[in-house]
Amino acid sequence: MDLIGVYLRDAVGEGCPVCRILRRYEESEIKTILYEHVNDPGVREKFRESLGLCTYHAWKTLGEAYSDPLLGPLGVAIIYEHMLSFYVASLERGRIPEEGECFLCQLMEEKETNTVEALAERIGELLPEYENSESVLCRRHYGMLLSILRRTNPDAAEMLEAIQLEKLRVLGERLGSFIDKFDYRAEEKPTKDEISSLPLAIEALKGLETGVTVRKTRNRKGRRAFPWK
Ligand SMILES: [Zn+2]
Ligand SMILES: [Zn+2]
Repeated sequence: MDLIGVYLRDAVGEGCPVCRILRRYEESEIKTILYEHVNDPGVREKFRESLGLCTYHAWKTLGEAYSDPLLGPLGVAIIYEHMLSFYVASLERGRIPEEGECFLCQLMEEKETNTVEALAERIGELLPEYENSESVLCRRHYGMLLSILRRTNPDAAEMLEAIQLEKLRVLGERLGSFIDKFDYRAEEKPTKDEISSLPLAIEALKGLETGVTVRKTRNRKGRRAFPWK
């Protein structure tokens, strides 16, 4: 197995491996920006294009800064002071500035495509690992992987379909037993597997919250703040 294969295999364990890779990647990219690029003019310009990222990534960035004791809010404050002054300057000219695409969202989409393609290329080695793990691909990433495999490796696609269905059935049974434990006649407490079946069922359907799964509202067209002027 090559290095990328090992990297992908390490993400197999629980939940959607693609989502888990993307979440780690997103957090590390945000930290890199905050540690190294707060005053970088190129990065500053990328921020400006979207007027400070999309809503999801703006809050995520602030959350990451506060959650890291070595960071704190200073870097984010410097970035958003700049964004605010740009915004005010635009309003003074009578324009609400355009909000372009968030560069972190673009980065995440690229990473998502690359990850699913890498998974598809190494499916022969990774499918048995996936089958024997507690991992369940989320609906979105299962769909992406399956559509590549149907084109490139129909046998693996068929195997993946069977494995995925079985995993979802097991998950559904665990969730059912979890619910049963709330019956007043139940004598046992829910097991660890039953407790984790609830977040894992949500993950199987919705994926984890990252730039690729959180729906973004984009306003590509600039609007004039004072159209009568
Ligand atoms: Zn996923
Ligand atoms: Zn974004």
